[in-house]
This record gives sequence, structure tokens and C-alpha cells, in this order.
Amino acid sequence: MAAVADARHPQELLEAFAALKEECAICYQCGTCTSSCPSGRELYRGPRRIVRLILAGEIDAVLGSDDLWRCTGCGACTAVCRMDIDVAGVLQRLRELERRYGEIRCAERTAARVATGHLERRRRIDNLRFGAAMVSRGYVPKDKVGAAGQGIKLVRQMLPGGGRRQTDEATPADDAVTLPFYAGCSLPQDRELHAAVHQVAAGFGVRLDEATDAGCCGHPSRGSVASLFATDALVYTACPACDAGLAESGIESVPLWDALTARAARSPGMELRAAGDRFVPYVGCIAERDTALAALGEAARQSNATMMVDYPTLHSGCCGALGGMYRGATKSSARLMEFAARRQAPVVTTCLLCRDNLRSAARELRLRVPVLLWPEFFRAASTTGLSGPPTVGAPTAAADPTTREERPDD
Ligand code: SF4
Ligand code: SF4
Repeated sequence: MAAVADARHPQELLEAFAALKEECAICYQCGTCTSSCPSGRELYRGPRRIVRLILAGEIDAVLGSDDLWRCTGCGACTAVCRMDIDVAGVLQRLRELERRYGEIRCAERTAARVATGHLERRRRIDNLRFGAAMVSRGYVPKDKVGAAGQGIKLVRQMLPGGGRRQTDEATPADDAVTLPFYAGCSLPQDRELHAAVHQVAAGFGVRLDEATDAGCCGHPSRGSVASLFATDALVYTACPACDAGLAESGIESVPLWDALTARAARSPGMELRAAGDRFVPYVGCIAERDTALAALGEAARQSNATMMVDYPTLHSGCCGALGGMYRGATKSSARLMEFAARRQAPVVTTCLLCRDNLRSAARELRLRVPVLLWPEFFRAASTTGLSGPPTVGAPTAAADPTTREERPDD
């Protein structure tokens, strides 16, 4: 049925909404999508109410809701909908319509626009340029100490001598297996961590064959640019957002961490070691949550570290994603950090963006909780001694107790 003309909205927009209404017509407003949404606590309306507004024909209310941009596209709502409505797909199409016909002003929307503009000119997001463009549009990071630290680190890396390709220091054994690796945009910009990933892989007897000229994965939260990386082969990754973006372009990927944990379990003479006797896992919302949590659980079992978990959603709530650095700690990340502080345990995550957002959350909440990406906490060792080079910046949880920082006025 053709959409009825309306003086306020272009015909094309009316027709797109009519198609969405038809797709959502079987929704019976059970709310399972909203209760399963890892970003649920941060959303004003949530997916159930967005669908209700579509059914009610409230175009302006839908296109005026910044929930559209705070949705990370994780797909949890689609996975649980008993009426088989692709709720995440509906939200993605709404974002496309909002780009064309809306005028929401929020950090996530601006970040997507900036990222899209950058990717139209270059192959990867440059974090320094991205941050400067956000500031020029009025979005100043809430965690100024963390942002300044990252900026200084990026500038130092660009200075003469700072551009050394440290990944060359990873020296896998001669009989190492070679895996094709896609590093994404963020990891190569943190050269120490980038080197640590190669070094930890080398410790597991794995040489990472990195596609150094690969472009951005094209993850939807980055903007409207499709993946700039193309391959028919399966690739290994270190970023859950890359997994989601590559999947959109039909590229099959496997988280490197899952592969290394599985390899350690079946390799005689090799064991996994942890930098502390306990940790709190965090897998974020974009990762394959159950698989990522299971991989961390398996790593805990192999390294005899205690994985401290509460109910699973605590470990997969949204850290704020691209908006985290501008909006600050989310309700989910605050609860996670307080849980870790009470347990006096570091947080170990499988996502670099989550790591940085959680570090900012710890500073904002004044909690002395170390937050580490997996290669900063785990490494491979031979049962007769260390077989891989040491990880970079691995903390000792015992020496760095996770206690609430004392405030001057406490
Ligand atoms: S889970 Fe599906 S049926 Fe239930 S409210 Fe959400 S969209 Fe509607
Ligand atoms: S895609 Fe994920 S973040 Fe977006 S509404 Fe669905 S569950 Fe929430």
C-alpha cells in the first residue's frame, strides 16, 4: 500500500516508514528486546518503544531520538525477538533515514559523521584527527586526563624514533603457524599494545601475517562507509567491532584471542599464565558475548586464575562505545567497576575500545581498578619456562590493589 502524502515529510521518507511499519506490524510489545539490550540502561526509549513509535506513525519522534545513535548495532534485540523482527536492522535503517532527513545533535551521531568523512578520504580512522575534529564540533572528552595521555602518546609515536615498527620484535619460533591477521584502525595506533599482540601470539607459536594496508572494517557505528578491506579468506582479529563490520561485508573472521586460548589447551608443553591470581572479565556488547566470556573462562581455568563473575549481563553491558569518551561512565560500566573494586581484582577485556572507556570510567569514579586488554594479562609459557617474550605493561594485581581511591574530603 502506498504511503499517504503528508505535507511535512518527503514521499520517500513516508514510504520508508510504511515499509518499516509493515515489518514491525507483528510486534506484540513484549519488551524482550529492551530487556536484552546491553545499552538498555543508557537508552531513553529503548527498542520496544522505538518500534511502538514506528507503528504509531510518529516519524518525528523516532527521527528525533538519539537512541538511534546510542544503539551499537550489537544485534541482541534481533536474536531474542520471538516474532523474528530484525530489530537491529530496523534501527540501522532508521539511522540511514536520520542521516538524510534528521538533525539529531549528539556525540555518537557526530562521531559517525566525522568518521564517514575521514574514511571517504583515507583508508583508516586516525584517532588524532578524529579527536581534533570532534573538539572543533564542540565535543570535548569528559576524561580529559585520559584523552590528553592518549594524544601525547600518539604524537610521541609520530616523532622521529617513535615510529619504530615494534611488531618486528615478535620472534615466533621457526615452526610457528602463520595466521592471516586484520588489526583494524585502533590497535596499530597503540604501538606498544600492537607489539604486545604480536608478541603474545609468538609465545603461542603463532606468526601473525598482518594485512598492513587493510582499510577500515566499515563497522556501522563508524559511519556509512562499507568495509575497505576485502578478502575471500578467513581472518583473525583483535577487535569485536571489526568482527561485526567484516561480517557485514561477508568476510569471515575469528577473534584471535579465542584461537590462542584453544591452541594453548591442545598444545603439549604449553600453558597459559596470568599476571594475577584473579580478574573480572568484561566482553562488552559487540563481541560474541557467550563465546568471548567462555574463552576468558577457559583462560582462567588454564592459568589457575579465579574469574570473578556476577550475573552475566554485568560483563557484557555497553561501555558507552564511541560516545563513552564524551558522555562518561555508563550505568553498566559503573556497576562493573564497583564490582571489581569490591573484589580487588583487575578488569580484563577482549575489546580495546572497552578498555579505554573503562579506564576513563575508573578515573571518573575515582576507583583504582586496573583495566587490561587480554594480552596485557595473559601470556603463553612452556611448562619448563617462559617460551614467549614478556607482555608489555602487564600489571601485578597483588601489587596494584583495586581499592577506592581516597578523596581529599573523605
Ligand atoms: S522483542 Fe520483538 S515482539 Fe517483543 S517488543 Fe521487541 S520487537 Fe516487539
Ligand atoms: S542492536 Fe543492540 S544496542 Fe541496538 S537496540 Fe538492539 S540490543 Fe540494543
